Amino acid sequence: MSGPHDVAVVGAGPAGLAAAVEAAEAGLAVALIDAAGQPGGQYWRHYDETHPRRDDHVGQHGWQTFTGLRERLHALRDTGRIHYLPGHQVWLITRDETGAFTLQMTGVVTRSERSLVARALILCAGGYDRQLPVPGWDLPGVMAAGGVQALVKGHRTLAGKRAVVAGTGPFLLPVATGLARSGATVAAVVEANDTLGWLRDPFGAVSSPAKGGEAVQYAAAMARRRIPYRTRTAVREILGDRRVEGVRVAKVDRDGRPVGPEREIAADLVAFGWGFTPSLELPLMLGVETRKDVDGSLVVVVDGLQRSSVESVYVAGEGTGVGGAALAVDEGRLSALALAASLRPISLRPTSLGPTTASAEIPRLQRRILRARRFAAAMHRTYPVPRAWTEWLSESTLVCRCEEVSYGELHRAHDDLGAEDPRTLKMLARPGMGWCQGRVCGFATAGIAACLSRRETTSEDLRALSTRSFAAPVALGELAELADDMTSGDATEDLM
Ligand SMILES: Cc1cc2nc3c(=O)[nH]c(=O)nc-3n(C[C@H](O)[C@H](O)[C@H](O)COP(=O)(O)OP(=O)(O)OC[C@H]3O[C@@H](n4cnc5c(N)ncnc54)[C@H](O)[C@@H]3O)c2cc1C
Repeated sequence: MSGPHDVAVVGAGPAGLAAAVEAAEAGLAVALIDAAGQPGGQYWRHYDETHPRRDDHVGQHGWQTFTGLRERLHALRDTGRIHYLPGHQVWLITRDETGAFTLQMTGVVTRSERSLVARALILCAGGYDRQLPVPGWDLPGVMAAGGVQALVKGHRTLAGKRAVVAGTGPFLLPVATGLARSGATVAAVVEANDTLGWLRDPFGAVSSPAKGGEAVQYAAAMARRRIPYRTRTAVREILGDRRVEGVRVAKVDRDGRPVGPEREIAADLVAFGWGFTPSLELPLMLGVETRKDVDGSLVVVVDGLQRSSVESVYVAGEGTGVGGAALAVDEGRLSALALAASLRPISLRPTSLGPTTASAEIPRLQRRILRARRFAAAMHRTYPVPRAWTEWLSESTLVCRCEEVSYGELHRAHDDLGAEDPRTLKMLARPGMGWCQGRVCGFATAGIAACLSRRETTSEDLRALSTRSFAAPVALGELAELADDMTSGDATEDLM
């Protein structure tokens, strides 16, 4: 077990990377733990660093920001100021009577350390693709848009030759252009909303000019490659026998109800993106307060310094609301500066940011975060999950693919057994009980429970399907090791 560190930062994506280097440069003893083998998270996912390529930056945005952060990370690691643990996934966090946190880690490939102790936490675990079921979505060839993007960015691998990219939101654009640049034919981008939604909040829309510029670049790339962009259109069904052969799409109204004739588009890959939903396993394990965000996902409540409702637990990046990488970087930096200002380091080290600079930087970051949050809210209002999406389902549509639970089974659990909320649906029909523990079907199951009971989804519905005993699957041997440590008094007894 290593430590005690002043702070353990979980996640080396835009938020965690920025938090770790900022905290270390402010003089704190930092541990940075990341499940991935190399830094960058989802936004800056890139090809294997042990085989660097000249085109690593192609398709990336803010690449210099990333390489700058990575250089600082390496320098701080080499001088021992950041204890960097790539390939380590935190599966359990406990707290002892002194307030110190113990993090248990499992190895994604190899694991050099099993646990570490820290006085404070900055949780930056990011999120995952939000998915909605539709008839046929369990056919091979249907993937989450983020997964398709991860294959392109991280492995230069195409998941199909002829793609339909569908769902809602600006993220569909980089996925479509990334596929096209890598050699796939993109038959269509199928967007459930229309872009006029931005006009509903013009102040929000212009509060991030950089994002506007990014969107223009994608629009130009789509036009150059002649990728059709069909707005107010949704995929009604995936067609195919043993794998995807095409999709049936229809024009829809603002709520997602079909209003026009249907048409078929041939494809061997369907990339679905309905936004992202934060990974809240670790914050929920610690009992933080949460709320339902504008986009309908569950997020952690933080104050103006990124502090959660639990003392010494800061959260930055997607966990506090989906808003993109630049916002995640600012939140990471702010959490580190705020923590550094509140914590007396165990061992004071030379700092690059003196107290005066840091205190000037905090309000500057807060202003930028406010603007970026305003933009994110306008984006979420422009690209909502259509209210009537559950009407796309047939009785046989699978909702939980791990446990093979159909919409009809959820319907019957509600009508015949009185399951009014997602927790009861889960107990009676088993959605979210399989390998992914509801990460894929949790949002949909919460929406279906609310819809069957003729009400809006609440944060309680979402929380019920986001809480997990462990944040990652662990081998029984690792559980046994922990039990041994606990009986020998080496680990905290206070499991939360
Ligand atoms: C699959 C996917 C692909 C995406 N691709 C893009 C894209 O191309 N363009 C775009 O604009 N946005 C993309 N996004 C959205 C993107 O995640 C955010 O805009 C941005 O990366 C958020 O930064 P972050 O630091 O909050 O989280 P992330 O970048 O997600 O970083 C979180 C990090 O935490 C690590 N982690 C999570 N849980 C644990 C744990 N228990 N223990 C240890 N480490 C952990 C993860 O491995 C990851 O490295 C993608 C999202 C997903 C889910």
